[in-house]
Amino acid sequence: MKALPSIINNNTKGVGPNISRGRDTCPPIAYETCIFKCYDAKFCKMRASVRKNRTNNSRAWKDDPIAFENTLRKYLTRRKPNTWRWQVGGDVGSQEYWEMMKRIARDFPAIRFLVFSKWFDLLRGRVPGNLAVILSIWGKGVGGRHMTKADVPYRVRKRFPMAFTGDCTAWEGFDDAVRCNGQCDACGMCWDLKKTGKNVRFELH
Ligand code: SF4
Repeated sequence: MKALPSIINNNTKGVGPNISRGRDTCPPIAYETCIFKCYDAKFCKMRASVRKNRTNNSRAWKDDPIAFENTLRKYLTRRKPNTWRWQVGGDVGSQEYWEMMKRIARDFPAIRFLVFSKWFDLLRGRVPGNLAVILSIWGKGVGGRHMTKADVPYRVRKRFPMAFTGDCTAWEGFDDAVRCNGQCDACGMCWDLKKTGKNVRFELH
């Protein structure tokens, strides 16, 4: 039987409705930097239900991308959330998925979408104003290789705000980046980083 995507309505961080997939959707650079250290890797280690959710959703997208998209559309039409978070676990993964993300944002203009990504080469084309894209930068002192500016094409760096984890003092915008307090429902700043001209900074959690 084909898998269907399983949407999470909220989590302990109050990120609101979200969809995740497994680490098979993360880019090659994640395997050198964050993949075994990020918060989602920890959640997956701690909870079988989270692991199952990620595996199921990776499979659902591979099995039938149209059914995957239709399930999300039905959810968004029925629930009308104010915000939506793509990939709390996993990443964009493919051009087809990225095109779907933009298509859905265009078709649901009242919903504010958010994604953190290291798939720098996939983030192309006109991005709808209600889809906030944040580049995920892995710094020093948090394990794995730290990223440098050479990892992120200049045209991409100039286009999107960044999320810093660890010591990213070599990057412009690190010193005055917003410090994440870990409660999205009370904060919501990441959805507006482009507007405010800020970046965001995470402690490894
Ligand atoms: S800065 Fe605010 S919106 Fe962004 S991840 Fe942290 S709590 Fe959530």
